[in-house]
Amino acid sequence: MTIPPGSTIGIIGGGQLGRMLAMAAAQLGYRTHVYAPDPDGGGAAGAARFTKGAFDDETALARFAAEVDVVTYEFENVPVAPLAAIAARVPLHPPLAALEIAQDRLAEKTFIQRHGGRPAPFAAVDDRAGLDAALARIGAPAILKTRRFGYDGKGQARIGAGADANADAAWAAIGAAPAVLEAFIDFDAEFSILLCRGADGDIVTWDAPRNRHQGGILVTSTVPAGAELAPAIAEAKALAARAAEALGHVGMLTMEFFAANGAALFNEMAPRVHNSGHWTIEGATTSQFENHIRAICGLPLGATTLVAPRVTMRHLVGPEAADWPAILADPAAHLHLYGKGEARPGRKMGHVTTLGDSHS
Ligand code: AMP
Repeated sequence: MTIPPGSTIGIIGGGQLGRMLAMAAAQLGYRTHVYAPDPDGGGAAGAARFTKGAFDDETALARFAAEVDVVTYEFENVPVAPLAAIAARVPLHPPLAALEIAQDRLAEKTFIQRHGGRPAPFAAVDDRAGLDAALARIGAPAILKTRRFGYDGKGQARIGAGADANADAAWAAIGAAPAVLEAFIDFDAEFSILLCRGADGDIVTWDAPRNRHQGGILVTSTVPAGAELAPAIAEAKALAARAAEALGHVGMLTMEFFAANGAALFNEMAPRVHNSGHWTIEGATTSQFENHIRAICGLPLGATTLVAPRVTMRHLVGPEAADWPAILADPAAHLHLYGKGEARPGRKMGHVTTLGDSHS
């Protein structure tokens, strides 16, 4: 079904991803209506309408859904049940099956294994005794991660090798919740696959960015990722395409990987636009945001070609956003500020993208 320009797109979640989706939608002549609990996340400013509501308020969500022509989401910790009620009334993309899998690290890893992917070695942990059993199987160093509601390194605790191993502290740090224990991967690099599948089943991917994280937060994405990662990226792209087909996915699907000894080890997936794809706004013929809008509205997808030999995106985290005058002193820098209220430590306040030649 084609949702033509002039229609209204509902976006659940009020952060910067929703803001950039709303901007891409506006370019194509759509109106957007953002639904989120907090108007301070930056998303509200980019949209024609904003509804403040809780993610589990079925009545408010139903009212919102009645006012839009198609619904998408920019945040994956949204309860599935109220979304299922919405999907019965109005088209909702990406599919809830993808969201349900991505909300649970254990489901995500087993889904990926079923499709021939390789997650880092892991074991499910249901209770404190289960953590000891998992440590005996996986070994240390390892990372304990809550199955649900983790992001930006939250809900995670590292368990060191040997004398550092402190399972009690890790179990307490993640709130004694159902978890998975993952082997700590001494990776060569991290990268992500940005894939968009159209309503007609057409699949496009962008050049895979090499991503650098600090304290669980993405700091930079650089494209191209480097020839040495090519085999791992090819393996990961094929996996992402198989997963998207299996899900009947429509819209963006992002997968994060560790490259280790030429292999692509799956870390996690998000059925949405992703911060490691911010660079596509200036660095690719069509951005991830525009292609997501095109996909959910049933339009043909745009080309994903790189427009410069090298593209770099740097996040502005917490007080770094105050550096905007210095950033603007470089006339080639593309500054994005998300319009968030308070620059709390660890909060993503903006990003800067720079297009360069192959040596910059
Ligand atoms: P996540 O929230 O699972 O994406 O983790 C955030 C970041 O922590 C990753 O991008 C890595 O930099 C690091 N990390 C997570 N899991 C592992 C692991 N099993 N081995 C090594 N580093 C990891």
